[in-house]
Amino acid sequence: MSGIVAIIGRPNVGKSTLFNRLVESRQAIVDDMSGVTRDRNYGQSLWNGIAFSLIDTGGYVPESSDVFESAIREQVHIAMEEADLLLFMVDGRAGITPLDEEFAEIVRRNPKKVFLIVNKLDTPQMSDSQYEFYQLGLPEVFAVSAATGTGTGDLLDAVVAALPPDKVLEDHEGLPRIAVVGRPNVGKSSVINAFLGRPAQIVTPVAGTTRDAIDTRYTAFGMDLVLVDTAGLRRKSKVEENIEFYSTLRTVRAIETCDVAMLLLDATQGMESQDMAIFSLIQKHSKGIVILVNKWDLVEKDHKSTLEFEKLIRERTAPFTDLPIIFTSALTRQRLLKALETAVEVCKRRSLRIPTHELNEVLQEAIAKHHPPAHRGHIIRIKYATQVPASVPTFLLFANHPDHVDESYKRYLENQLRERFGFTGVPINVFFRKK
Ligand code: GDP
Ligand code: GDP
Repeated sequence: MSGIVAIIGRPNVGKSTLFNRLVESRQAIVDDMSGVTRDRNYGQSLWNGIAFSLIDTGGYVPESSDVFESAIREQVHIAMEEADLLLFMVDGRAGITPLDEEFAEIVRRNPKKVFLIVNKLDTPQMSDSQYEFYQLGLPEVFAVSAATGTGTGDLLDAVVAALPPDKVLEDHEGLPRIAVVGRPNVGKSSVINAFLGRPAQIVTPVAGTTRDAIDTRYTAFGMDLVLVDTAGLRRKSKVEENIEFYSTLRTVRAIETCDVAMLLLDATQGMESQDMAIFSLIQKHSKGIVILVNKWDLVEKDHKSTLEFEKLIRERTAPFTDLPIIFTSALTRQRLLKALETAVEVCKRRSLRIPTHELNEVLQEAIAKHHPPAHRGHIIRIKYATQVPASVPTFLLFANHPDHVDESYKRYLENQLRERFGFTGVPINVFFRKK
């Protein structure tokens, strides 16, 4: 199960505070590993083993005051179209405001599920304040304190129970799903159009565009796959923040539903924080990845150009540096076919099962080349490995002192497995267990 949950509501009701609380635990772990800075607008939440994506509309606040109210109104509409569940938040201490009433009116007409979150009820005595808000006509009410955490456990229970089951994509079942993602203007539409040989762009100024419209079947050059497109659907808005909000929701959705993400970068601009945010989202979802350095035709090249660019990307993405990087041009079609073939290859590798004897041969060779360092006089012995069923290749390595295998040695073994089995672009897990 998975899904997108959006927190909406007028400013200052506590949306960001709730967001931070709900993404807290998991984010901390992931960020430690990747060194990727956390994005305050969207993240992953994990509750009772169920992961979902959480988006905070409060992170998309326009600076200009004359569009402010209309912009947040529009955010409610975007969230209604794109999210699976809405958390409509109000300030339990401030009482109902006209803007709350207006939002309630909009979301009541919405077929998607909405929870009314009455926030800032920090003490048990305050919890009676929630009843006033029943007037808003939304039956599922949760009294919480985002600041102290009171009530958030019950809320999370209800959230995960309300998430839709993973949609079975009957039409294209079993085909590789490849998402084309990247920030605006990197060339996503151009690349998709070049793949398909026709313009695929659809502009949606109006509500109600179904999200399945982003799937396009691609069959050519012996390939059969589904392109998951975030570019084809564009939302017109006068407000930059809302275009970004919409594009984020689309990107999260595309990444959630794909096997492999093609992350486009603009060769004239390098790898910036927005690119990094998308990269880390792909990592968090354990999806395969291929990096396309697009608009390569615009770069003045000498013999070192690709190497320098690759180095820059690997620095930014460390320690996940085992990535296919392809220099493309949508304009001249340079290496586009190679990009697709690589994505299909990554997809295959993502579900690779390695025979146990082969796995152990490689492991023993790696250990013979370079023994695990002893830990406080304990000699570390790694006996054997086995692959366990999981959505990405996952290996258990059995050792006498699993807790004492140091990080750099783990990375060494992981890299050996990556090299020998061609896991470039594929997320893999290596865990140590007591024999
Ligand atoms: P947003 O604009 O909706 O994202 O609201 P923020 O999360 O930025 O919170 C607005 C203000 O309300 C901040 O000063 C928060 O510290 C405060 N706040 C948020 N949640 C609570 C809460 O549960 N109790 C109390 N007392 N204050 C809160
Ligand atoms: P999107 O917002 O990511 O879908 O980007 P678009 O496909 O709309 O491209 C943005 C701009 O970059 C357009 O003007 C394209 O013509 C241009 N563009 C896209 N790919 C390339 C490329 O490989 N080379 C050059 N020179 N221009 C490109």
